[in-house]
This record gives sequence, C-alpha cells and structure tokens, in this order.
Amino acid sequence: MQQYREIKSRHQDAILFFRMGEFYEMFYDDAETASRTLGLTLTTRNNGGAADVPLAGVPVKAAADYVRKLVQQGFRVAICEQVEDPRLAKGIVRREVIETVTPGVALADDLLDGARNNYVVAITDGARDAGCGARMGVAAADVSTGELRLSVVDATALEALLARLAPREVVLPRPAPRIPRPDECLLTERESWEFDATLGREDLERHFGVLSLDGLGVGADDILAVCAAGALLRYLKELQPAGVSLARPIVEHADGVLPLDEMTRRNLELVESLRGGGTRGTAGTLIDVLDRTTTAMGARMLRQWTLAPLATKAAIDARLDAVDSFVRSPLAREALRGALAQVRDLERLATKAALGRSTPRELAWLGDSMSRLPAVQAALRDAAQAAPCARLHDALAAWDDCADVVSEIARTLVRDAPISVGEDPTIAAGVDAELDELRGLRDGGRDAIARIQADERERTGIQSLKVGYNRIFGYYIEVTKSNLHLVPPDYQRRQTITNGERYVTPALKSYEERVLTANERIEEREREIFDALRGRVGKQIARLHAIARALAEIDVLATLAEVATREGYARPRISEEFTLRITAGRHPVVERMMPRDKFVPNDLQLTESARVIVLTGPNMAGKSTILRQVGLIALMAHMGSFVPASEAEIGVLDRLFTRVGASDNLARGQSTFMVEMAETSAILHTATARSLVLLDEIGRGTSTYDGVSIAWAVTEHLHNVTGCKTIFATHYHELTQLADDLDAMRNYNVAVREVGDRILFVHRLEPGGADRSYGIEVGRLAGLPAAVLDRARRLLHVLESEQLAHRSAKPVPATQQLGLFVAQPHPVVERLGKIDVNAMTPMQALTLLDELSRQARA
Ligand code: ADP
Repeated sequence: MQQYREIKSRHQDAILFFRMGEFYEMFYDDAETASRTLGLTLTTRNNGGAADVPLAGVPVKAAADYVRKLVQQGFRVAICEQVEDPRLAKGIVRREVIETVTPGVALADDLLDGARNNYVVAITDGARDAGCGARMGVAAADVSTGELRLSVVDATALEALLARLAPREVVLPRPAPRIPRPDECLLTERESWEFDATLGREDLERHFGVLSLDGLGVGADDILAVCAAGALLRYLKELQPAGVSLARPIVEHADGVLPLDEMTRRNLELVESLRGGGTRGTAGTLIDVLDRTTTAMGARMLRQWTLAPLATKAAIDARLDAVDSFVRSPLAREALRGALAQVRDLERLATKAALGRSTPRELAWLGDSMSRLPAVQAALRDAAQAAPCARLHDALAAWDDCADVVSEIARTLVRDAPISVGEDPTIAAGVDAELDELRGLRDGGRDAIARIQADERERTGIQSLKVGYNRIFGYYIEVTKSNLHLVPPDYQRRQTITNGERYVTPALKSYEERVLTANERIEEREREIFDALRGRVGKQIARLHAIARALAEIDVLATLAEVATREGYARPRISEEFTLRITAGRHPVVERMMPRDKFVPNDLQLTESARVIVLTGPNMAGKSTILRQVGLIALMAHMGSFVPASEAEIGVLDRLFTRVGASDNLARGQSTFMVEMAETSAILHTATARSLVLLDEIGRGTSTYDGVSIAWAVTEHLHNVTGCKTIFATHYHELTQLADDLDAMRNYNVAVREVGDRILFVHRLEPGGADRSYGIEVGRLAGLPAAVLDRARRLLHVLESEQLAHRSAKPVPATQQLGLFVAQPHPVVERLGKIDVNAMTPMQALTLLDELSRQARA
C-alpha cells in the first residue's frame, strides 16, 4: 500500500487503475466511485490491523471497456502498470503510471468518433501578459490525429471559437479566467506559471525541433497562443509520459474565419439539430446533407469547414474553383471517390504508428491505405486535366505517394497481419535471415515429430499409434488400450486417458524442446522487427500527416461537387460588395424532407439601399424557413460550397448572426426572455455593416406591447446605427409600419392565399407587409371548435374597429418612443395579445372568450 499511496498522491484528480497481476485494482474513493459508476462489486482488503480498505477491480482483459465508460462520464483514468517482470523483481514490483486517459486526451478507437475531432483546448487571457488586453490565446490539440491549432482571438470571439471546436476538455490557468463554458466539457486547471511566454516558446521550439518559432509560421502576434500551447504540451506530456505526436501547428488568423457564435451554429442546425437535443445524431442538419465524404479525414475536415467558413474572397474562390473543377469532371470525380473509399483513417493510423501504438494489423492497414495513393493521384490528374484549377495543381505538385513507406510495410508484414505479435505470424518470410532460420528449425522440428509417428508405427507395429500435442504435456505418443502390450520399454508414461495411454520418448522431447524454444525466439524476433518497422514508419509522420491532410481536402472538395450535382446547387458569385442576392433559393435541409420540386424556391435581395427586410406572415407560412435558408446559403458560400439556388451573389460577410426568439434555453436556468435579450444585445454590440443579422420572432418572449416595442427599437438600431444586412421575421404585423420611417427597410411577407374563409400556405415571398396575422385561421387548423372560432372572428372585428378608432395617425418617431400604436390600449386587447391559442383546450378557450366578452361589455 505504501507504493500505491505514493503513486496515488501524484494522481489525485484521476481514478487510479493499479495493476496487480491480471487485475487493475482501485482503492478507497476510487473504488467507491468506480463501483458506483461501473456497477462493480465493492469489497474490502485487509490492511494489516488498520481499517479495511475499500477495493474494486477489473480484469486487465476487459479494462478498455471500463476505462471508456469512466472517461465518457467525464472522469480521468490513470493506468498504472507493472514495469518490470514480477518473476525477476527483487521485492515489490516496480510500477508506473504509463498513461492517463481523459475525455480530451484519448487514443482508443472506442472513445473517438471518426467524423469529428476530439479536441483538448488550452486558453489563457491577455490580462496575464501586460499589453495584450482583452485577447485570448488558444491552443487546441487532437492527439488522435496529431493536429495542433493556435489562435489569438478577442475575448468576445472566444465563444464562437469554442462553439466551433466543441472541445471535450479545457485547460485553464488558475485562477481561471471567465470563459463561456462549452457543453459536456471537462475543466482542468493548471498553475498559471505554466502559461509563461518564454517557457511556451522554448517548449514549442524543442517539440518541433526548430531554432525559432518563425520557422513554424508563428509570429510575435501569436504569443498568447504560444503561452497556451506551452501549457498544453506540458499537460499532454504528463498524461502521456511516452510523448504525443503533433504535426506542425496550424496558425489561424482571426480575419481568415467567419465567426459563428454558439446560437448561430445551433439555430442554423449546422451539425446538431434543435430537436435532436443532446443526442449525437446529425439528422436534419446541414452536415447531414453535405457529408458524402468517403474518408474519415474528409468527414472531420468537412465539419471543420462547416463550423469555420472562410472570410476572404480569394480563399473562398480558390475552393469554389476546385469544387467547380470536380463538378465539370464527373468521371474523374467518380474514379477519385472510388479510390478514396479504399483509404482508411490514415491520419489516426499514422498517429498511432508515431506513438508506437499500432498493432500489426493497423500498420498493415496504414500501408494498404497508402498503396491506394497512386490511384487517387491518377484520378486527381484526370480531374485537373479535364478542368484545370490552382488548388488541384498545388495538391499534385506536393503529392507524395510515400512509396518507400508503402513498400517497406508491404515487404515486411505478412498478408493478413494479426492483431498482435505472437500466435500467428506477423513478419513475412524472406525479411530476416535469423527469423527464417528459426522458422526452419521449428518447422524442421515439427516435420521430425511428424516423421516419428510413421517410424514408431513401423517399429512397434501399432497402426493406430498417434503423435499429438496439448498445452500441458506438450508432444506425446498416444496408444489405445488394445495395443498397450506392444508398447516398447523406452516409452515413458505421462497420462492415462479413457481409452488408452500417452507416452513420451527422449527423441520426441528433444524435438519438442527445439520447436518450443524456436517459437519463443521467433516471437521475440518478430516483435523486434515489427517495433523497428513501426518506429521507422512513425518517423515519417510529417509526410504521412501532410498526405492525410491533402486527401482530406480533396475528399471534401470532391464531396461538395458531388452534393452540388446531386442536389442541383449553383456556384455562388463571391463579391466584395455589400449586396446579397439569391435567385430561386431553397433551404438545403427542408427541401430534402419533401418530394422533389415540392419546395417553393424564393428570390431575395439585400442591397445597401434596401438592407433591412421585415418579413411578416402568419405562423406556419414559412418565415423561419426563408430566414434560415438565407443564413445557410450565405454560410455554404463562405465555406466554398455551391448553394441551393439557381443564382447567388454573396458579398463577403464578417459575421453571421442568427437568433430565434423564445428558443428553448430553459435548461440553462435563465428565463427565455432574458436569454433572448442577452443574445440580441450581443448582436447590437458586435455586428458591423458587413454582417448579416437574421432575427426570428425576437421579442416574442414577453407581452405583445413589450415585444413589439423591443423588436421595433432593435430594427431601428440595426438600420440606422449598424447598417448591416438584416432580416427580421415576425408575426407582429405592426412592425410593417416601420417602413414609413426607415428608408432602407422593405416589407416582405410570406403569402397565404385565402380560399373562402380558409387559408392556403403557398410559401411564396412577396413584397409588402402582411396585414393580418391569421391567428384565427391557424386556430381552426389546430382544431378549435366552430363556435369558438365564430365568436373569435366577431370579437376580432369589434376589437379591430376599436383599435382603428384609437390609433394615432402614425407611429411616433424614435425619439419619443413608446405609447406606440394605441394611445390607451383596451384591456381586452392586451389580454387577447397574450393568449397562446395553441396551449389551450377548447374548454379553456370558451371560458376565456366568455370572460373577454363580459369584460368588453362592461
Ligand atoms: P413560420 O416560421 O412562418 O411559422 P416555418 O418556416 O416554420 O413557418 O414553415 C412551416 C412549414 O412550412 C415548414 O415546416 C415546411 O414544411 C413548410 N415550408 C416552409 N417553407 C416552404 C417552402 N418554401 N416550400 C415548401 N414548404 C415550405
């Protein structure tokens, strides 16, 4: 227990898996936590007179599964192994923690999702470093793919960055700066000296073997990110004492990426659906429509592109050119996708090799995947010839088949390499003279043993005599009962079985000895050769990572072309002008939920002189759909994708905001209205003239008059002060009056057609405001009884004429505010405004109606 306590004291915050023979044991609190979380039996261990120690254990063979469960629940697990052979140990076997697994730092396949990165992110704030003000340094690593990203962002942009990376673990200096905490994320605090700039610089230089950070493309402006990276590297080293393998850092510059905050990412349902809640499924999301990638690297990169669209015309055009190229060469694209489909997760397989963790099978997969590179290259060349473009030429120019690595792996390993070195052969014949000789010896021994059967049959005259083998007795000669009298005296009896006896002879034993020693040496030698091969392959990690990234990018570009062709998307024209113009635009996700051609396309444009659209129309008309479709089309264009429209002209944005009022944020413990207002305020503070702001029913979370007033003022501010492109969808048709005051505002409505007293949703966008809200018709659709509807219609009529009588001629200018529409709103009108018809039973509706009519008469 002394040794245990000593090791545990260095791993206080982890559950310690303490290796004892064939079990990992956990003690004290760890045992209690584990038994609770994993359903293990809690026992106790006698502690020599002192109080008994709680104990729980898991068999080594099944440990991976238990580790996974604990880590998925947000625990860290430290694996402590016996690091010397217990048979050779003097005294207590030496033990060391060889690895600590955490949600953010995991390498096991079953803890990872192929289609997304598993990031651990270190963050430090500028306040710690004089002069950096409200800037944040961020370093994000995915140890399973070897990716390291550095960025320095304004404190206000941190949330968007974290929303995009969706880290599983965040590492912060103590005392922790205030940061928006991502969902389901473990927080790890480290001493603040770990985030020191000089230390960070030295650590990075040492890790990447460079004399100065300039060589990594890391400049003076990135110093805060270097601070974070230094702390991150040190933390990783602690978790993985054997080291981690990271490719050269990708330095992200804030102006290269279009920031999307968490709410925008959610409201546009990019990678997670609003309805899906906490589930991981992507049904109903943009990524679900776009992800036709053929490789895991491609799937991860597509996700990155979706969450971090580009923000400069040149970068976007370069991608669009490449997608265009693939659109115009369907045959080459098909061939390319066919070749790529044969490639496994090269990035993770290569990282495993570099970490000395791949099994023979995984190394063979790596070689096999890379052997497909020439086919990929050929298809790429065809595509580049059919439709030349810079991106494809660059990829071809930098192409590296890694043929040397491929052939070395292919030459060294057997065809179907096993999961581990041992029973089945790993190393091919002809690779190593010593191994071949040992195998010769072993096989010779086996042949000799086989010959013994024939010889002994002849010598003894026992035709049924057999040579057999089992693990306990080794090789033996088996004679049936009826022949026992023929057994010669030099046979030594070893075992009696039901219908005979088993013997050995000195000759048999000496061959056996030869076979078994040879086997042992063979395994040892195979392991040596395999380790050396894996080491050499691992050393090529930089090349392997580079080609994995190239494949990922080609996969994504070809995928975007594939989707564009299949779904009938058009190439957007990217400009540096203000205008956003979409002709026959569709919602990429909603259109797929209905039969082809049932979705009604709509045109929409926002120009400097008509930059704010107030979109009215009854519930269910299609306002949200249009709003989101504009957001999605703009976003897709920025990621370099074609868009669901017949034509689109997109002025490059600096930010994209999407807010949906009264969205279900109750889980976060704030009132929905408060959340809504906080979100709106964030937009008013950060949006610029180059932003696109999409607001859906903002202000709905409060009473009608409050709601309308807030919506009114927000729209005015965006129009007059921010001057950005704005679409405001609302069922408050009162807002249409804003057009009288705001010269760059236009009213649009999503048309409904009235057929008799019924309404038909035609989902068509038309200029002009909706003059009615059709609430009663929607009530009818929802099944309100005819009598109630009839009464409501009459009431509405009365109220409307009353309101007209009260209404001041024109809304007051912004300076006077409030008292907006009605000098003195009738109390019945106010009550009516607060009614949510959908939330009422017919009985409640009737009662209320009765009350209202009484109040109106009073
Ligand atoms: P609103 O925001 O006005 O209440 P939604 O945008 O939620 O309405 O649309 C309601 C439903 O109408 C959607 O679920 C969709 O099925 C259908 N819809 C919306 N827009 C279209 C369209 N352009 N073409 C076909 N169906 C549409």
